[in-house]
Amino acid sequence: MPFPNKVKEEALVKSRRCCCICNEFAGVYVNVHHIVHESKKGSNTIENAIVLCLKCHGEVGHYNEKHPIGKKYSVDELKNHRDNWWEWCHDNPSVPLPKNPVSVSPSRIELGHGEWRTKSLLNIYNKEERFYYQVCVKIGTESNEVQLENIGIEPIKGANDLKLQANSIEVDPSVIRMLCIDQADNKVILLIIRSMEPHGVCTFEIQQPTSPSLSSEKTHGLTFAISSFSEEPAASGESSTGAFINFIPPEPLTVLRLAMLLRRI
Ligand SMILES: [Zn+2]
Repeated sequence: MPFPNKVKEEALVKSRRCCCICNEFAGVYVNVHHIVHESKKGSNTIENAIVLCLKCHGEVGHYNEKHPIGKKYSVDELKNHRDNWWEWCHDNPSVPLPKNPVSVSPSRIELGHGEWRTKSLLNIYNKEERFYYQVCVKIGTESNEVQLENIGIEPIKGANDLKLQANSIEVDPSVIRMLCIDQADNKVILLIIRSMEPHGVCTFEIQQPTSPSLSSEKTHGLTFAISSFSEEPAASGESSTGAFINFIPPEPLTVLRLAMLLRRI
């Protein structure tokens, strides 16, 4: 049985007819999708509904379990995307839809506490027909109990490959992770993606280890925002002392730690 019209309407209104994954306005090109498929006893209530554009619906709906390629969307991940987007729409009812040429989704991930660990996917989209460079994603926390140092960030796909030789080791500086103190005196992580191709997507897996130290009375979250991007590539190259990349920070920063993110091949 499909969703009753009332449920479909509610989902479309809550989503402002935007896709809950890529957050693009989809107009009439939308699907109200069952998060848990009906054949697996998924209900026809709003709890089980997510609005998806045709592209994301294809990605979510046509995963072939018999020929697994890549990483399947999980039920919790879809619910997270949906809840984040509905929350944004609810909190910003009169704000124009985000028009930033580069966007990040979700804008918030809720972390577990106690024996729970969190694993979520973070997507960065280039919506335009052109390259963007030094795309900088700022990752912050809502509570000082969260140790940003312990958050794992692993590139899954999309970051452009560029190999540099440094001390005879081949490194891939396509994504740089910086732990810093920002202008507002908050500890944050900056993820700097070297370049994003036209309509490109970069996907990262965000991992939180089990955190018995987090109090259960409060909710703990990570927040994600695009803090800057450039229309020009950054200078890079090799000198007699090693490889270098010029990076222009989006704001005055105190850098505590810097690392290249290596991708598993
Ligand atoms: Zn979409």
